[in-house]
Amino acid sequence: MAKAKSVIVIGAGPAGLTAADRLAAEGLDVLVLEANDRVGGLCRTVAFAGATFDLGGHRIITKDDEVREFIFDLMGEELELRRRKSTIRLWGKDFAYPLDFKNLLLNMNPVTTLRAGIDYLAAAGRQRLAPRRDVSFEDWVVNRFGRTLYRIYFGPYTEKLWGRPPSSISADWAAQRISLLNLWDVLLLLLKLKKEQPKTYAAEFHYPRGGIGRLYEALAARAEAAGAEIRTKAEAVAVPREGGRVAGVVYWQNGNEYRENADFVISTAPLPRVAEMLQPGGDAAVVEAAAAMAFRGLRFLNLVVDRPALTDNTWIYVPEPEFFFFRIQDLRNWSPSLCPEGKSAVELEIACDAGDEKWRLPEAEVREVCLADLARVGLDLHEAVEAYGTTAEAYCYPIYDLDYRRKIKAVLDFVWPLDNLLTIGRGGLFRYNNMDHSIKMGLLAAGHIARGAPREAILEIAKEQSVFEAPHKRS
Ligand SMILES: Cc1cc2nc3c(=O)[nH]c(=O)nc-3n(C[C@H](O)[C@H](O)[C@H](O)COP(=O)(O)OP(=O)(O)OC[C@H]3O[C@@H](n4cnc5c(N)ncnc54)[C@H](O)[C@@H]3O)c2cc1C
Repeated sequence: MAKAKSVIVIGAGPAGLTAADRLAAEGLDVLVLEANDRVGGLCRTVAFAGATFDLGGHRIITKDDEVREFIFDLMGEELELRRRKSTIRLWGKDFAYPLDFKNLLLNMNPVTTLRAGIDYLAAAGRQRLAPRRDVSFEDWVVNRFGRTLYRIYFGPYTEKLWGRPPSSISADWAAQRISLLNLWDVLLLLLKLKKEQPKTYAAEFHYPRGGIGRLYEALAARAEAAGAEIRTKAEAVAVPREGGRVAGVVYWQNGNEYRENADFVISTAPLPRVAEMLQPGGDAAVVEAAAAMAFRGLRFLNLVVDRPALTDNTWIYVPEPEFFFFRIQDLRNWSPSLCPEGKSAVELEIACDAGDEKWRLPEAEVREVCLADLARVGLDLHEAVEAYGTTAEAYCYPIYDLDYRRKIKAVLDFVWPLDNLLTIGRGGLFRYNNMDHSIKMGLLAAGHIARGAPREAILEIAKEQSVFEAPHKRS
């Protein structure tokens, strides 16, 4: 393959901006097309009524030295080291998370605890003697934790988060997300008979003053200073291909259609959308697979509150289905820089599908339902809210249904062999990337284009990650 001189990057999230920054630094001609009105992707930050809101708080945590260096080089003094403190609000009680033995004993109903314990031991014994096959999330949990814990906790919560029965969600998702594989381990840990904390408990994290979006604004500025051009409100709609290569990108901006050609295209748009953009498209199997790949969206209610402080938590999980939101973020505890002087800011995260009833509910009604639910969990802000607004994002969580592997394979088999096109990132590979995974993919994509490093390394990133952002299964 001749060395590329010009590259178009679709998407100005972590993956796309990293690739653009590195390629521009290597002297390539780089154009970034971003559908949104600002950079950052899922990590963008929105200023509102004097406060600053992420799309759900984003912690910087990474085990990758190259990524850590990349972030620290860029942000230096702007990063603060913060301490996570979170609780689970369940059955009208506050459960400390990470779990605390005394707190757990005080809060649990003894009859339920006994029933769950017997059920758990029966399931664990069965699993040892004659392990059952795990197909769905439900199988996975019931086979390991027993039916009682599934019924009182995992089942309803998973259905609330995904809007689908857990029997239709792949067991892979549970295996990746629930890293507390063994309740016995939890018990030993609580009794202090075991020292090692499971990897899900990251007590500290880094966070930029002014919100996570600052990191990506700084990255975009550095890429531009190195010569990259970033066009916002520019939505890629087609990628013309000829044989095994792509020629460029057709995009819409301000109601007009434009076309730019390039030697190489990196896409961080959702994988099914990439398959739909390629022209000519794939065969019937590719079209069917792409159309059936779905994402779970989120809506966020952002509140500015006339109170100097609210809780001592960074966030509170609210797993019960009768509450409209599943997590409460108390922004002052993320960073005081997010709140106006002497005031607080709260963000409520609401799981939904783009276009469904919750997605379309008028803002004032979202506010009303959420304030009533907040009061029910002991945080009555009716008199204190000064300003409110909602934000939403359709492509938050790739949905791993029972057939997701086949669909990813069908689409990737069509897209990946194209010589001068790379699809990378969270949506781009339909996997649960954290920011560091997407940054790493951007670095590897740039290495492939500028220096001929093997592209296959990209597919190894975040293959088996224990993921972050699903409520209380964060690493
Ligand atoms: C609620 C929530 C909380 C999270 N918390 C954390 C956390 O604490 N820590 C962490 O590390 N990670 C967290 N994550 C994950 C993190 O958001 C992602 O890993 C990261 O944003 C992925 O970056 P990306 O560049 O791959 O994709 P994205 O951020 O999705 O960026 C893709 C970009 O492409 C653009 N685009 C799409 N289609 C087109 C098109 N056709 N034309 C032009 N542009 C297009 C989009 O507008 C977007 O800007 C969280 C995610 C969610 C949903």
